Amino acid sequence: MAMDFLKNIGEKVSETGKAVGGKTKQVSEIAKITYKITAEEKAVEELYAILGKACYEAENAKAESPYFGQCEEISAKMDGIEELKKQLNTIKGIVVCENCKAEISAENDFCGKCGAKLVKPVEEPVAVEDVVVDHEETVEADACGADAVIDEEKSDYPNK
Ligand SMILES: [Zn+2]
Repeated sequence: MAMDFLKNIGEKVSETGKAVGGKTKQVSEIAKITYKITAEEKAVEELYAILGKACYEAENAKAESPYFGQCEEISAKMDGIEELKKQLNTIKGIVVCENCKAEISAENDFCGKCGAKLVKPVEEPVAVEDVVVDHEETVEADACGADAVIDEEKSDYPNK
């Protein structure tokens, strides 16, 4: 049916072209049809996207699905997007309320819109790692009799 529709347009264009014989008319018809083709192609792409999303929702987490790989990839990317959004909010100093999804300044403890308690991101892990490393070094030194080792090392350097 779509083919017939396009064929009819094609015939109409060539007939019109012959009847008028003007180049301007032909150019405007070409532009009109090109525009229609682009619009139809865009509509098809949108329908493909809707189908694809429906397929993801139906097939996701089914190990036997022929689309298992693609579904896994989409899920992983969506997780990644969530993580990036959290990073962005941290930089902006914003916390998203888990109750009403409002963006609230991280300085607040409660949501200004719905009053729910704000769940803030966990403290920077870098500082914790630094503390752990210092602790490990201390333990190592204690465990291996560090004093004796250090004295030996010092004796290797005549200047000390
Ligand atoms: Zn809220």
